[in-house]
Amino acid sequence: MARAALPGRLGEPVPAGRLIWRAATLAAQRAETPTARTLVLDVPGWPGHLAGQHVDVRLTADDGYSTQRSYSLAAPADGERIELTVQEVDDGEVSPYLTRELVPGDALELRGPVGGWFTWRPQDTGPVQLIAGGSGIVPLMAMIRARRLAGSTAPFRLIYSVRSPGQVYYADELAALAGQPDGPQITYAYTRAAPAGWPAPPARLDAAAVTAAAWPADTAPACFVCGPTAFVEAVADILVSLGNDPGRVKTERFGPTGG
Ligand SMILES: Cc1cc2nc3c(=O)[nH]c(=O)nc-3n(C[C@H](O)[C@H](O)[C@H](O)COP(=O)(O)OP(=O)(O)OC[C@H]3O[C@@H](n4cnc5c(N)ncnc54)[C@H](O)[C@@H]3O)c2cc1C
Repeated sequence: MARAALPGRLGEPVPAGRLIWRAATLAAQRAETPTARTLVLDVPGWPGHLAGQHVDVRLTADDGYSTQRSYSLAAPADGERIELTVQEVDDGEVSPYLTRELVPGDALELRGPVGGWFTWRPQDTGPVQLIAGGSGIVPLMAMIRARRLAGSTAPFRLIYSVRSPGQVYYADELAALAGQPDGPQITYAYTRAAPAGWPAPPARLDAAAVTAAAWPADTAPACFVCGPTAFVEAVADILVSLGNDPGRVKTERFGPTGG
């Protein structure tokens, strides 16, 4: 029986302004790198989400001043429990509070899930090309985790560009997943410092590096690119120049947000 497209059904994009703000409580946290922290939040009434979606987080001070930022969901929902990973931005207003000051039991507000375009669904079986720059790994990790949780064997490749080995998020989990028979193929690219013995000097991703590690365009991969705005634009241009259909290159820019 055909089902009507109800606004708000899992995966149907809902404009952020129509979402309600929910109270969330920090249940646990863990360091991913010296400057990035995963926040495990309990959100009563959480409706569920798709890999790739994000939330808006709102903080309100005692004097009523309020500000909000967007953060990608880092993992599939576990009931009413969600995870975000926040990179501390020097001199940032919100991220240092989330990474340094928030402690278990503290409350904040969030609304979501937001976004319906930059998403991967476990029923999608075709090849997937993920390309992350820095904290842009967060929604792509949600896709990798959703794939594992669903027992999907959709062929995944990840190119993960980081400044140095110490900046890799989820390093142990990624290594374990890559070692599994149907695990994702993972290629690291280092921009400032590479591990000892690494075959190439540190460099920004270029067309040759993407060609060497990515699915060829003739396999028609679904491409997801996430990171700082300049990174995303450069990589999306490379993917299209290599013959990928622009309509299959989906991007998420982690530029400044707020208001
Ligand atoms: C859809 C979406 C999803 C996002 N998901 C994540 C996520 O999963 N994890 C995460 O850590 N961040 C994510 N961000 C970025 C996040 O929303 C904030 O922009 C970031 O945390 C900085 O906020 P702040 O208040 O600390 O800095 P601000 O006080 O807003 O800015 C301080 C200074 O840092 C610069 N700046 C702000 N944001 C960035 C940035 N992202 N990179 C570099 N410089 C910046 C500003 O221009 C300013 O000069 C996402 C952004 C978007 C739009």
